[in-house]
Amino acid sequence: MSFQNILIEIEKEIGLITNDGKVADYIPELARINPESFAVSIITVDGKDFSLGNNLDFFSLQSITKVFSLTMAYSILGEKLWSRVGVEPSGSAFNSLVQLEYENGIPRNPFINAGALVICDILFDIYNNPEKELLDFTKRISGNSNIDFNLKVAESEKATSYTNKALINLMKSFGNINNDIDNILDLYYKMCSIEMSSYDLANTFLLYANHGVLKSEGERILSVSKTKRINSIMQTCGFYDESGEFAFKVGLPGKSGVGGGIVAVHPNKYSVAVWSPKLNSKGNSLLGMKALELLTTKIEESIF
Ligand code: GLU
Repeated sequence: MSFQNILIEIEKEIGLITNDGKVADYIPELARINPESFAVSIITVDGKDFSLGNNLDFFSLQSITKVFSLTMAYSILGEKLWSRVGVEPSGSAFNSLVQLEYENGIPRNPFINAGALVICDILFDIYNNPEKELLDFTKRISGNSNIDFNLKVAESEKATSYTNKALINLMKSFGNINNDIDNILDLYYKMCSIEMSSYDLANTFLLYANHGVLKSEGERILSVSKTKRINSIMQTCGFYDESGEFAFKVGLPGKSGVGGGIVAVHPNKYSVAVWSPKLNSKGNSLLGMKALELLTTKIEESIF
């Protein structure tokens, strides 16, 4: 069966599910989205694309952007990066403080909030203007020069982000933050506020399905080994304390965000992005998880 026919089947089956998920409203500006939005885009490494739903509407990537900042920091710092942040699943919520105290301010992995804040700190160590570098990099790998921060979303998170402030202060007290806390938080909020469509998102993640080579330019952005490692962190840590469940049901490396997006890759084959804003109790898109489970079940292929 072709991808397009599979997508049509998925849309039908998804339509029968009662979605009792909730749109994230702890960042007030995120709650303004149409909760019924739904999009899927698949792009294959040999250049075919398949989409359904609101696949050109922009949405807030939130934690999905943590893959971009990790890619930038890792490609420059190499293995030294892992003295500042680990690569183990946390088994706890994305913004948990408890583990961080026990583990002396070294976050379990780059995809929990504490880990992403350390990566933003590292971007300040590396670049004079990390905000511009991050946005330029995102535009480049997405192939869309219209990608931007949503400053209303960033401001809205800044006004309510007590836990992220606590996380970064705790890490500073353990000596794992070098730069100005407020600047790092501002970069983090802006990064999380980046918006793109499911089509752009699938296009962006082709990089990780294509062993680190940017298809549009034929340029290598990441080594094969580093791409493998980022994919493996997505596999083990991409869905917070639901990472095991995602591996079990979908069987692909991926990353979610509280804007309702999920992106996943099948190396050598395709990348797929799904968007549905209502989240389950673990903060992952309820229908997005289901759509991806249906996809790999119907294709009868995953990385396992
Ligand atoms: N900006 C969000 C936060 O820090 C990202 C969380 C997510 O997408 O999982 O809470």
